[in-house]
Amino acid sequence: MPASSTNDTAVNTILKIINTYGSVSQTMMSEVSGYSKGMISIACESLSEAGLITSDSCKAKNKEYRLSPDIGAVIGIGIGGTTCWVGLFRITGEELAIIKEPIDLSRGPDAILNMISRHISSLMAQNNVRMEELRGIGMGIPSPVKYQEGYANHPAFMPGWHLLDLKKFFAEKYNCPAFIDNEVNTMALAEFIQRPDRNHHILLCLKAGTGIGAGLVIDGEIYRGENGGGNNVGHIQISGSTALCKCGKIGCIEATASAPAVRQKATEYAKANPGTELWKIFSEEGSISLSAIKKAADNGDKGALGIIKDAGEALGELAGTLTMILDPAEIVVSGQMMQLGPNYLYYIRAKAERISAPWAGYEQNIRFSSMPSSSGAVGAARLCINELFDHNLIL
Ligand SMILES: [Zn+2]
Repeated sequence: MPASSTNDTAVNTILKIINTYGSVSQTMMSEVSGYSKGMISIACESLSEAGLITSDSCKAKNKEYRLSPDIGAVIGIGIGGTTCWVGLFRITGEELAIIKEPIDLSRGPDAILNMISRHISSLMAQNNVRMEELRGIGMGIPSPVKYQEGYANHPAFMPGWHLLDLKKFFAEKYNCPAFIDNEVNTMALAEFIQRPDRNHHILLCLKAGTGIGAGLVIDGEIYRGENGGGNNVGHIQISGSTALCKCGKIGCIEATASAPAVRQKATEYAKANPGTELWKIFSEEGSISLSAIKKAADNGDKGALGIIKDAGEALGELAGTLTMILDPAEIVVSGQMMQLGPNYLYYIRAKAERISAPWAGYEQNIRFSSMPSSSGAVGAARLCINELFDHNLIL
């Protein structure tokens, strides 16, 4: 191998290591990469001169190197069932700004892509980021995704998006690479990076909102399955459910324990049970939110507590079943169903423990997400950054 290409490889390897670990000494770079200290020293020098990495110059010995925030910026986009987040991030992962906007996916892709484009323009203008500084775009969508191709594959509630070439749309419009993934995958990646216990290697994220989805991250890598259709748990059947799902099947967890399904159950209960807390809420407000179901249960409405129990046990059945296959170190429950509160989490844990093996340790392993609801956009940005470094698209 010619010396120059060895040096190029060392330079790319160092960038990847710094992206993974954040702040790294030359000694650690040498240990992780296997390159000699001399080779590492030369590569660090050329990266510093190019302005791609910086170091703490006060420390003469074993100083640590970080990515330079001036390398550029990326956009992270997270689309949920009813909300879209568009964020601007430095290449170091630092969030510069994020915009949240309600969306109606039934209106088709044009309106949403136009809205996203408007937000990208305003985020870049407000943060003085020029077009040539934009290095990539990451996007999470609530659909199975063909990851390499960059399109939605048979989305359940995104009319007009099936096979739409999103990768090409963004790449041509912004002249940079784009990476499209399932939204819960990007959320799981964000959760993995923020996990409190750095010794955990496998994290499963369950998002319960308009739909129900899962994202699995193993050692920092998103697991997508053979055809990109992995983790689409919303259409797994739950015992005892007779609900008809949009997909045409009976008993899917999404038709049984998603936010719309649970709110529908609460409305039906309220109408049939005058005088109850839920009936009072429905009479006054004309609809029942998830937080209102929690409030009614807290005020002693047994029907409301029963609805929370059924929703929690359905997700617990899913969590327990997945644990028997995957044995994750932790399961993070995310999405608007968290508004049902601690009782919801209790029933998830109890059911998962009941149907699973005694070694699972659910009290510690199943928790609510502590990240903001924008985690899909945060994870999409991180996915984009990782891809840029993994495929040497930074230099
Ligand atoms: Zn279904």
